[in-house]
Amino acid sequence: MNRTSPAPRLIFHNGTAVLPDRVVPDAVVCCEGGRITRVGRARTLPRDAKLVDAKGGYVTPGFVDIHVHGGDGADFMDGTTDAVRTACRAHARHGTTTIFPTTTTGSPAQLSAMLKACAEVRRDGNVAEGARIAGVHFYGPYFAPDKVGCHSQAGRRDPDAREYRRHFATGIIRIATCAAELPAAEAFYREAKRHGCLVTCGHSNATWAEMARAFRAGMRHVDHFWCAMSSVASLRQRYGTPMQASMEQFVLAHEAMSTEVIADGCHLSPELLEFAYRQLGPRRLCLVTDANRAMDMPPGRYRFGCAADGEWIESDGRVGFVPGGGALASSVVGLDTMVQKMKAMTSASLPEVIRMASLTPAERAGIAHDTGSLTPGKRADVLVLSRQLRVRRVFVGGDERAARLASSAVSRRRPDFCCNAPWQA
Ligand SMILES: [Zn+2]
Ligand SMILES: [Zn+2]
Repeated sequence: MNRTSPAPRLIFHNGTAVLPDRVVPDAVVCCEGGRITRVGRARTLPRDAKLVDAKGGYVTPGFVDIHVHGGDGADFMDGTTDAVRTACRAHARHGTTTIFPTTTTGSPAQLSAMLKACAEVRRDGNVAEGARIAGVHFYGPYFAPDKVGCHSQAGRRDPDAREYRRHFATGIIRIATCAAELPAAEAFYREAKRHGCLVTCGHSNATWAEMARAFRAGMRHVDHFWCAMSSVASLRQRYGTPMQASMEQFVLAHEAMSTEVIADGCHLSPELLEFAYRQLGPRRLCLVTDANRAMDMPPGRYRFGCAADGEWIESDGRVGFVPGGGALASSVVGLDTMVQKMKAMTSASLPEVIRMASLTPAERAGIAHDTGSLTPGKRADVLVLSRQLRVRRVFVGGDERAARLASSAVSRRRPDFCCNAPWQA
């Protein structure tokens, strides 16, 4: 639809293909017309195809990020097509080929602008050099007042049917979050389900009973496990004794529930990552970046959310945090880093780690028929990774994206909403 000439025949060779359940050494991955046509052992390579030499590394599916706020200085909530394109390009450099731009808390007008900008970029089809937008993750503003985290408190509110019906009517929302304990949360979940969304509970201090009601209304996922969610301890503060089961126990106890981890090594310790992997398995656990605009930017202070009035956060180049040495405030690295850390810090196999960054999020978001694994018929969303899992080359629908970070250019950039001056309260 958005191509004038069909994508050429493309063959990845001289690498180990990573499938959801195994690796295939010395494999070829053949693609034609932007789709994968064959994955198997190498044999004589045809002359009329464009060859991609994996140079002994890995050939994997492109990553799918279902929770991501921005990168390279741009936040999707800036609400401009420029910001959307910048963030999509930045994440493609880190191996993300399918992206779900994620809202923060904000005013109804800011949310509308974000949805409109994402829809416009998606309509144009081919984000030059960027990840493909599969839909928006409507995340803020329906958070619990006591679990707003680094988002703007002023932009938080309870679900308002008149507002969210208008947002859902845009048709671009594919994932929808609301805290389960908020008034009329169930009506929001049912509406999200009616629109075919992955329905999720996040930034919430919900009890087991509230989670059970949410589950009946269609909720099946919890955002960033252990971050901004209820625990036995937080519920004890809310309700006293007897102590109660929390979101954590609810997710672990229900086979139909999935969740996600921020595996940057800063948010969760290796034993928590290992625990999540062992308890949930690679089919119920997604890797997400939850990256903010400070990704690929120098350490400094940045707006989280809209450039106009988002909360200030600080990046030290490894992670985001609330100024003054406070709580963590989302990540500043790409999915490639999450994949490397998950592999290094847990006992998950390489196919399992790659699955958690591709097929599992694709399944949960309802797009696994189209992308998420090296399977004939799916889009040619393909990565070449080094043996150390560094991103070497990135293909979206068979079109190559610039994989290498122009790091010197990136580190020199310093937009208005970033400053290194000491933070003023
Ligand atoms: Zn969050
Ligand atoms: Zn987030």
